[in-house]
Amino acid sequence: MTARPCPICRRKSEEAHAPFCSRRCADVDLHRWLSGGYAIPGSEDGEGEEGGSSLPDRDRGTDGA
Ligand SMILES: [Zn+2]
Repeated sequence: MTARPCPICRRKSEEAHAPFCSRRCADVDLHRWLSGGYAIPGSEDGEGEEGGSSLPDRDRGTDGA
């Protein structure tokens, strides 16, 4: 059993997204890698997507199509 916590948010990782807890965290990690590593000097000002909380998370449930 591999009960490793998500390296991004330290939450319980899911099998479907291991070793992350969700695809979002996996995306975050991937993005960091593609961005050039974890230590990026604040000199590049182009992409304003660093928070990772700008996803149009719509609540689906009440409005079932
Ligand atoms: Zn996570």
